[in-house]
Amino acid sequence: HVKGRGKDGYQFFSESMNVNTTYRLGLERDLRRALQAGELRVFYQPQVNLRTGLCRGFEALVRWQHPTRGLLHPGEFLPLAEETRLIGDLSEWVLATACREMRPWLRDADEDLRLSVNFSPMQVEHPRFVELLLQKLDYYDLPPEKLEIEITENMIINDLEPISRKLDQLSSYGVRVAIDDFGTGYSSLNYLHRLPIHTLKVDQSFIRDIRHGEEGACIVNAIVAMARGLKLDIIAEGVETQGQLSYLRELGCDSVQGYYFGDARPVDWLELPSAKAPLARYSGVS
Ligand code: C2E
Ligand code: MG
Ligand code: MG
Ligand code: MG
Repeated sequence: HVKGRGKDGYQFFSESMNVNTTYRLGLERDLRRALQAGELRVFYQPQVNLRTGLCRGFEALVRWQHPTRGLLHPGEFLPLAEETRLIGDLSEWVLATACREMRPWLRDADEDLRLSVNFSPMQVEHPRFVELLLQKLDYYDLPPEKLEIEITENMIINDLEPISRKLDQLSSYGVRVAIDDFGTGYSSLNYLHRLPIHTLKVDQSFIRDIRHGEEGACIVNAIVAMARGLKLDIIAEGVETQGQLSYLRELGCDSVQGYYFGDARPVDWLELPSAKAPLARYSGVS
């Protein structure tokens, strides 16, 4: 039996791969159908400016209202969408939906209110990314300054040249660029002054560590100081507690996002005030 183990191991491996493939094909079909059947949703999470106490914008986060599995988060279906290239259709749908749903708010509210939308590397690498994005904004009659795109550092590991051209173009139209999950990627920091970046989003893992004592806080201090020096806007992600909030405020962090101020919700659940009025539910901030 000892001899047969390698073989069994191999068979087991290839069998489970088959199961996996079948499972994934099922999911892929399911996701494609979901996109057409209108089972996807866009939820919005507020980003709160600590200086003014006002909402600086909303991040669009995709959800799948699955008929049998309930409400699914992107972690459960985005990787699949990326592998199967469904990500193109999905991203386009998210952007269109977010523009359409948020348009009344973005147009009427104070000029600092923005919509943030996440894009996967594969999307940004699409040759017509810039063109398609600007087309969408035009179609929904949204000024480009109302949009902030969120990309991750891992997108910029290799060659700065192609991404640089795209971001410069977007930036010249007024679209803002945020680096999401900052501090978790494997890229060097030199892109920060070579690309037109407006915002750093400090990854939630660092915020979580604040309460564990000095070390986590040290990293956050350093990032905030660096962002200040580079004149970048800074958002702390995953802020859940009063303690984290007051620490970040003391540090001079510009904005926060997290369960403390609210989870992502459907557009009709958002309590958006009229132009320039402070958000009642966020009024503990200022
Ligand atoms: P992200 O862009 O870093 O978004 C923040 C994630 O943290 C969201 O998870 C949000 O629900 C969660 N979050 C917010 N506040 C808190 C908090 O206080 N504590 C904790 N523990 N978590 C918090 P979600 O919605 O599951 O999204 C996960 C990731 O999926 C996003 O991370 C983003 O990278 C990606 N994603 C979401 N929507 C889209 C999309 O439309 N397109 C693309 N390409 N990626 C998306
Ligand atoms: Mg994001
Ligand atoms: Mg993030
Ligand atoms: Mg993330």
